[in-house]
Amino acid sequence: MQAPVLVLNANFEPINVCSTRRAIGLVLNEKASLVLNGRGEIKTVSRSYPRPSIIRLDHMVKRPRLRVRLTKREILRRDDYTCQYCGQHLPHLTIDHVIPRRLGGKHSWDNLVAACPSCNHRKGGRTPEQVQMHLLHVPKEPPSSARYLFARHLRENEEWMPFVEGW
Ligand SMILES: [Zn+2]
Repeated sequence: MQAPVLVLNANFEPINVCSTRRAIGLVLNEKASLVLNGRGEIKTVSRSYPRPSIIRLDHMVKRPRLRVRLTKREILRRDDYTCQYCGQHLPHLTIDHVIPRRLGGKHSWDNLVAACPSCNHRKGGRTPEQVQMHLLHVPKEPPSSARYLFARHLRENEEWMPFVEGW
């Protein structure tokens, strides 16, 4: 019941991912319709329901354009789990403020990068120029396309792809 279900707005824009339990609730309450099932059925004592993979809201929901949330997990994903100074691909990466906060560096997409513990330690509270370290990429906010936003679900839910492409 926790399997993710893609939620489309009335205009088919992908806007959210919710649990199967919530998706079935929306359909039973006539707030959403089934777009795609194909995951078999859920049986209760009295009846069975198709298990949804994608649902669509019956009424358009107004909401601001989704953006990627600024979290450690999303910074690591943007940087492809690679230290942005030495290029190492490591499981335990830290987040580095390129311009340190005490020097006025912001907590923002363009000032945060993935860094391995040893590069982070070597850099300390200094700027890259001060320690002659160079970034592999200029950090910036990742794309807010549906494909990028929902990427972590797409491998296991390939049937979502046609509904996510182009938004
Ligand atoms: Zn490194």
